[in-house]
Amino acid sequence: MISKDKQLHFLLIPLMSQSHIIPLTDFAKLLAQYGINVSIITTPLNAQRYKSLITQSLNFNLKIQLISLQFPCEELGLPKGCENMDSLPSTNLYKEFFLACETLKQPLEEIIQKMETKPSCIISTGGLYWTQEIADKFKIPRYVFQTISCFALLCSQETGTRNSELPNETTTKQSDDVQSVVHQIKWSSIGATSIIMQQKMDEIMHRSNESSINKEHSYLTWLNSMKPKSVVYVSFGSLCHMSFLQIKEIGLGLESSNVPFIWIIRGLNVSSEVEKWLSDENFEEKVKGRGIIIKGWAPQLMILSHPSIGGFLTHCGWNSTLEGITYGIPMITFPMFADQFYNEKLIVNVLQIGIRVGIEEKNKVLVKKEEVKKAINQLMNEGLESEERRKRAKELAIMSKEAMKERGSSYLNIKLLIQDVMQLVNN
Ligand code: UDP
Repeated sequence: MISKDKQLHFLLIPLMSQSHIIPLTDFAKLLAQYGINVSIITTPLNAQRYKSLITQSLNFNLKIQLISLQFPCEELGLPKGCENMDSLPSTNLYKEFFLACETLKQPLEEIIQKMETKPSCIISTGGLYWTQEIADKFKIPRYVFQTISCFALLCSQETGTRNSELPNETTTKQSDDVQSVVHQIKWSSIGATSIIMQQKMDEIMHRSNESSINKEHSYLTWLNSMKPKSVVYVSFGSLCHMSFLQIKEIGLGLESSNVPFIWIIRGLNVSSEVEKWLSDENFEEKVKGRGIIIKGWAPQLMILSHPSIGGFLTHCGWNSTLEGITYGIPMITFPMFADQFYNEKLIVNVLQIGIRVGIEEKNKVLVKKEEVKKAINQLMNEGLESEERRKRAKELAIMSKEAMKERGSSYLNIKLLIQDVMQLVNN
């Protein structure tokens, strides 16, 4: 606990994207448990996703407040209601989205000006480089919250080829505007924290979004009926836009693998073509008892933490990667953009807890159903190689839990951060 006379106030500003909001919200809870006042900047539609955080804050007397700022969608060429990157219909709109975020600067400065207790520091996503200017103006330190791994950061610095905050599709056709944004992001670094071990089932059910299913959904009964480590969980995060043809190949691969699965098809990818194919194929009927499809937002942590889950077909987003590691689940890697290719190398080559589905970064072609089937069967079989992969994944899960315990490396790093801010405030 922080003593009263040194009351700290942390201002958290996440990029409005699930992979930033989720870990920064976890971090907010952790900070508040240390007695720190936390303010999180959000927008009206994103604020609705914080319902469970608000309930928990009230229940546990955590001092977390949400500050909601209007987000100018239509004025900047974004479709109405696109306040989160997961609702953008196309990656071509990333530039407009980042520019819309920048318009939050002035109203935020006005709010800080009127605050009774000035923030002790700002913790914000690297991509929101303009938050550095706010910190400079109010003479408070700013810490960059990284949602990518140290491994990916190091690789991208060494190769100097790509800024991992912006997806590939955008950086390959950068205008001068975007180039300058990228440059500022690079120069304007706290890492992703995984405090998921401390969360209760009720909390993770609706983590940063309303699940498309409720607690009573039959998937849980079904999972409970499955053998330990027998089910593959298939999910590609909150942002990916996947073609109908690719979705179809994945579906056919899952069907022919004969392995039990839960397959998440992200809301925007559930096109009429996908719906028609699923219904023409009678897909759900064909895999009944062996496979479940969830269309929309799934309670990923809840599913990954279930003992029946034995494999994770993932796009290698850093949060998903950490979640897979924390629950000791071997992975099939299906990266699509940005740091995901580095995360694949970490999972497959460094940690040796996964196998590749076979995507080549430079030469993106359709991953065929045979490749999906082969990877699933290779991961889920009971051969020596698979058993060793499972053993390594289990060891890493134990290490990640140790890191969060008192005297663990993550625990100590958070304490060091708080001490750092406290010293700066007192000087
Ligand atoms: N997530 C979830 N349900 C879904 C899809 C994603 O809970 O249906 C969560 C997932 O657990 C992770 C985050 O959303 O915490 C996705 O972040 P990640 O870095 O893996 O990928 P991105 O969304 O940035 O591609």
